[in-house]
Parts: sequence; C-alpha cells; structure tokens
Amino acid sequence: MTKVFEKSPAFFDTFTRKPSMQKTTHYCPGCGHGTLNKIMADQIAELGLQDQTIIVGPVGCGVFIYYYFECASVSAAHGRASAVATGVSRANPDSVTISYQGDGDLAAIGTSNAIHAANRGENMIVFFVNNNIYGMTGGQLAPTTLIDQTSMTSPDGRSVLNDGYPLRMAEMMAGLEAPVLSARVAVNNPRNIRQAVKVIKRGLEVQRDKKGYAFIEVLSQCPTNWKKDPKEACEWIDDVVCEQYPLGIFKDVVDERDPQKRQFKRVGFAAIAKQLGLSEADGDSSQQVEMAQDEMRFKFAGFGGQGILSLGMMLSQLSMERNMEVTWLPSYGPEMRGGVANCSVVVSKNAIGSPVVDNPNVLVALNRPSLEKFGPLMPEEGLVVYNSSLIDQVPADVKGHVFALPATDLASEAGTAKAANVVVLGFVARKTGMFDLSDLETFLGETFKKPTLREVNVKAVRAGWDAAE
Ligand code: SF4
Repeated sequence: MTKVFEKSPAFFDTFTRKPSMQKTTHYCPGCGHGTLNKIMADQIAELGLQDQTIIVGPVGCGVFIYYYFECASVSAAHGRASAVATGVSRANPDSVTISYQGDGDLAAIGTSNAIHAANRGENMIVFFVNNNIYGMTGGQLAPTTLIDQTSMTSPDGRSVLNDGYPLRMAEMMAGLEAPVLSARVAVNNPRNIRQAVKVIKRGLEVQRDKKGYAFIEVLSQCPTNWKKDPKEACEWIDDVVCEQYPLGIFKDVVDERDPQKRQFKRVGFAAIAKQLGLSEADGDSSQQVEMAQDEMRFKFAGFGGQGILSLGMMLSQLSMERNMEVTWLPSYGPEMRGGVANCSVVVSKNAIGSPVVDNPNVLVALNRPSLEKFGPLMPEEGLVVYNSSLIDQVPADVKGHVFALPATDLASEAGTAKAANVVVLGFVARKTGMFDLSDLETFLGETFKKPTLREVNVKAVRAGWDAAE
C-alpha cells in the first residue's frame, strides 16, 4: 500500500510538461485536484489496474492529467469526455475506463453526453470534480455554483430566479436506472479523504469487474477562484458547500448487478450495401485505383474561397467511385473567411486508421502561407504542387519534389480563375497516376449539369493534365 506522502507507482517519476515542473503538478497550491489524483493513482496501483486503465481527460483544470498518470490516456474536446470514454470503453472492453471531468465540462457543455453515457450504463467510472465554478477560465458561474455564491459573472451572488438551482449531478445520476454506483465525496479534510478513498476504490472495482457505470462527484476546493487561502477553502467546503451538496452514497446496487460486456460486431459490406441500395460491384476491389502505395495522404491548402475543400471533395468522390476507402477532413472556422483553409484526404485500399494528415504524400499549396506551413513537413519523396500564379518564391525549407503550376492563370485561360482547383485536380491525377483524363472528364460531366460550367471545368482539367506531362 502506498503511503500518504509517497509517490504512487501509477504516477510518472517525473512530469514532462515543463522542465521546471518535473516534480510538481500545474494545479494551484491547495487545489483539490491534486489530492483526488493521488487517491486515484494509489487505488489504481493497489488494485493492480495500471496496465488496463485508460483516462479520458477533459478541458478545464484537469486538462493535463495525462502528464501525471502512467496509464494510457486520451484528451477529449470540451464536454465530450463521457462520449469519448464510451468509444474507448467499447473498443477496449477489458479496460478500466475513467472519464475525468469538471463542472463546466460535465454539468454545462457536456450534460447530454454525460447523462446518456450514464443512462446506457457504459462500463466507465466518471470522476466529476465539483468546485462550484469554472476554474481554468477564471471563476465564472457554473451550473454547480451555490445559491448566493459570488463569481466572476455573478458579482451579486447566484440568483435562483435568474440562474436556477445548483445542479446536483450525483443525485441525478442515482435517479437513472443503469448506473450501479453514484456518490458524492470530498477531499478537504482527513475524514472526508478516508471516505473518498473507500468510494473511489469501490468505483474502480466496479470497472475491474465490468459491472457498468459508476459516478463519483468530488467536492474539491479551488482556493484561487474562491479567493481564499487553502485552509479557509477546506473549511468552506464543510461549513457552506456541504450544506447544498450533501456527501453520501446515493445509489449502490453493485452487488445486485451481473458483469456486462458488450459484443463488438463489425457490419459487413453486404449489409451496408443493402441499406444504401448498392450492388455487389460497388465492393469490387478489382476496380480500385492504381497507386504507388496502398495508402495516399493528401493535404490541400490555400485561401478560403479558392475551392480547397471542394478539391478534396472531388478527389474523394472520384476515389469512392473506384471503391477505395476514403476520408475527407476539412479545417473550418474563421479561416474560411479569407485566411488559410485546408483539408486532408486519405485514399486507401484498406480501412483507414486516422483521417489526420500530418506528413502528406501530396501537398497542394494554392497560396504562400500554405506552402510555408506545410512544405517543411513533406517527406523527401513527397509531391508538392504550388500555385505559381500567386507564389513567386519557394521557401528554402520546403521538402519533396516541387512542381510549379500556374493554376490561376490556366484556369483564367479556360474561362474562370475559380476553376484553379480543377486545374490542380488534372495535374495531381496525372502526376500520381491515379486517374485517366477520361475518368476526370466523365466525373466533371456528371458533376456540372450546366453546359457552360461543364465546358469551362473540362477545359481547366485538361489544362492541368497537359501541364503535368
Ligand atoms: S483554478 Fe482552482 S480548480 Fe483550477 S487548478 Fe487552480 S485551484 Fe485548482
């Protein structure tokens, strides 16, 4: 058993987040997160679960949890930890899956994710750190803020009329049918910590034994945003917080439930084809695209408005029609309004592991910022196509076989500068050997119904094809 002041074996020996912080966490002095992490690590180690444990981290003060636990870990987008943990747990049925979330993450933006994971009785343990405010972003009002508690955004105190009542998540979860354990503990004094240890151990045993969903709410002091010193913050939990958030075990039916294991069933092509009205020919791999390797990874980048995303779409569509596995991952956001937009496309003969393209085989850069950003990431044997109508100089650190293509000029000659992306399509198709010109012409003919548009785009694709000779 790890002693109170010993480092738990489930923690890394040193934390690599910052060279200056190798032995300390990023939590503020007196913060309850650190105590909770220590209890979790001790119990994971004591139960021998370290090799099975996968921690899903949140957005919030717990965001760097992966720096501390020597277990597998995944970071989730804000509020999505319970949803990500669902996938983790189902894909790894032998794992002990932990979803670690704070008030804003679980009880505000991610409420629906959390409740539905609980209602499905997923095999996971959720640690819900309730410190009554949004911690990381500076102490704004959260769904868990106490009645009359002041915060950055409730300087006169929480008003029931305006802001509703504090959300009692542990009681809510206990009211659902599926969860086997729901409790509220605190980490503010030795007595409460001893009780927290017991409950956390039981929750982890639930996971070890595959008994379903366990929810543990942890009242945790946030001295920084409560504007109290650590001692006052600990006392405030006893004196004030527990009045509105009583400690206790609200549901424990662990001993009444049998272990549960969901069966993973892969849906075969025939079943999907039937639903989509496809024929057996659609799964015929003999029609697949010839490629230099089994998987090609593309990055298309340029200004918003240059047709970057639709260039990726066209390549994806062409590849899908040849029964290839395809992913298309756009980068949306403010960059769509004239900044740098990009999309990643993966075309493969096999199931694709990830749609993310960090080191592309093919880079198309339609503006200079894109070439500067992605060019240095290219492998030496990669193909780089840049729009020489807009880029007059190639940065020295761009790698790969670099080709200048005056895409905008060629498109203008074909009828419209907007067809620069189609010029690129012709060029890339020929350079990679993936498609014939007739494939492209047929595709454009089917895509552009209006004769004038069709004519311009066919001219543009031919111009790109010829430039690749
Ligand atoms: S802001 Fe509060 S919850 Fe966040 S690390 Fe500091 S004390 Fe802990």
